[in-house]
Amino acid sequence: MDFKLTEEQELFKKNVGDFARQELAPLVREIDEKGGFNWEVWRKLALMGLPGLAGPEEYGGVGVDSLLTQAIVVEELARYDFSSAANIVSNWSIIHVLTVGNEEQKSRYLAPLCSGESVGAFAQTEPNAGSDVASMRTTARLEDGYYVINGEKCFVTQGGEAEFTIVMARTSNEMGTNGISALLVDKDAPGLILGQKEEKLGFRGSTTRVLAFDDCRIPVTNLLGEKGKGFKTAMKMLTGGRVLTAAQALGQAQAALDASVKYAKERIQFGKPIGSFQLIQGILADMAIQLEAARLLTHQAAWLKDNGQPFNIYASMAKTYATDVAMKAAVDAVQIFGGYGFMRDYPVESIMRNVKITQIYEGTNQIQRLIIARELLDEKTSFREMYGNNKM
Ligand SMILES: Cc1cc2nc3c(=O)[nH]c(=O)nc-3n(C[C@H](O)[C@H](O)[C@H](O)COP(=O)(O)OP(=O)(O)OC[C@H]3O[C@@H](n4cnc5c(N)ncnc54)[C@H](O)[C@@H]3O)c2cc1C
Repeated sequence: MDFKLTEEQELFKKNVGDFARQELAPLVREIDEKGGFNWEVWRKLALMGLPGLAGPEEYGGVGVDSLLTQAIVVEELARYDFSSAANIVSNWSIIHVLTVGNEEQKSRYLAPLCSGESVGAFAQTEPNAGSDVASMRTTARLEDGYYVINGEKCFVTQGGEAEFTIVMARTSNEMGTNGISALLVDKDAPGLILGQKEEKLGFRGSTTRVLAFDDCRIPVTNLLGEKGKGFKTAMKMLTGGRVLTAAQALGQAQAALDASVKYAKERIQFGKPIGSFQLIQGILADMAIQLEAARLLTHQAAWLKDNGQPFNIYASMAKTYATDVAMKAAVDAVQIFGGYGFMRDYPVESIMRNVKITQIYEGTNQIQRLIIARELLDEKTSFREMYGNNKM
């Protein structure tokens, strides 16, 4: 067993960390206050090659397909700027879903995403279909060489900023997730209506909107992948996203720990630094223990993927554990800062607001626990074989 990162991974870690600390961290407060996707920041990320880091080289990407390397990059970004890390992960997810497209679709949509010239969006959630994706109602019916889409999607990240959106819609009357197709809807498609920009608790350096479809017409050639298989294909392509959500949480948990250690040494009460009180030391130690455990689990999930092994359950475990640990670390950091922790001028309240979303998106932590429990209770799963009966 080798826990050492490769030279390349160490280099990514250092370069991305230095860049995020110097170039992004000074802008974070202003972006958080203003709210919305920031193109100036996106262009800085593009100069570093980050929007296309995980994209295929033939379309201008960097071709880094190691999930572990991607997780290391995302953690370092998230340590200094949560929104940039989450926006990059969203971009990579859209790139992955697009790779099932045909040549024409790939050359049209992939290259500008990899270069950072544009961004895309992914619309699956509906007002009445969140965790219960199978109950989605948006339809796309075939009419004279066009798909005509009707329905509503909510919480669409980069809705209104994106040049195109991958929309999940029913193309047949089949129940459940069968019959759901992925469709490419351009920004200027007739019948696409943008809702108001949502005001959010955290992850404020992104734009989130409702998208409505009122007889929205798109050419039949904009079907992405196989008809009726869109949902299943997308979910398969997006499993790595759970590991990268864990990495976003790790970055913010590390930031919470760094700020807490610094403050515990500086803040004097009862004539001593608060870090000399054992109750404060206990909080700091628990933060460090849980952060390391979460990082190991996240790296293991990524390593399994990189080594061609089943990693689905580990991705769910890493997502759930790392995001819960980060939420606890954020709340504890605010406690260590006392009343100052509650103030905008100090760094920890924004961590608490940002981290909350990691427990909700990419499948809520309750849904991840259901996935894990289902595998534990099933006699035939690969997880059981992998994990070994002696450990169950
Ligand atoms: C900032 C932000 C960005 C997002 N970006 C996107 C995007 O780009 N594209 C997109 O398609 N979606 C996006 N989402 C949507 C996100 O994926 C959903 O919010 C998430 O899947 C949960 O769905 P929901 O909000 O409808 O909650 P619900 O499914 O209504 O869940 C409510 C609560 O019930 C729990 N629950 C639900 N079912 C069960 C069950 N069977 N057992 C136990 N507990 C259960 C949930 O865990 C949760 O705690 C985004 C959301 C946010 C907030």
